[in-house]
Amino acid sequence: MNCQLCQKELEAYREGRLPESTRIQVEEHLKACQACSESYSLLRVADQVIEDEKSQEFNLYLSTRVMSKIGEMEISRQAKHVPVYRKILKPALISVSVAAAVLVGVIAGNLYKPAGSANEIPVELLYMNDAAMESVYLFAND
Ligand SMILES: [Zn+2]
Repeated sequence: MNCQLCQKELEAYREGRLPESTRIQVEEHLKACQACSESYSLLRVADQVIEDEKSQEFNLYLSTRVMSKIGEMEISRQAKHVPVYRKILKPALISVSVAAAVLVGVIAGNLYKPAGSANEIPVELLYMNDAAMESVYLFAND
């Protein structure tokens, strides 16, 4: 077997698709020929890389598991020693902001003059008589 033929058969040899006689010939050539055995080991390396890439799918589950584990650890760590200021201050801050919002609402409501007190006319408006200023008789006269 020569190098050219061996190179041609390497792929099939690697995948175990060669008939017995050809397989033995290739194996013998690989033992004898440095160049062909090197290219064969290169193919094996490429195979290994591809296999590694394929196994990444399983690692995907692994990484998901690891990430969820890390999440659990962080949650339990937070639960274990929540700082006191966070335990007290956070609810306190929420209560204070709610109270402030209510207070602002009450103040805004008081600032706005409700419709019920519309009857109270400001003093300066009392002296203005709209009816007198724009009397309909003004237009009726001729
Ligand atoms: Zn060769």
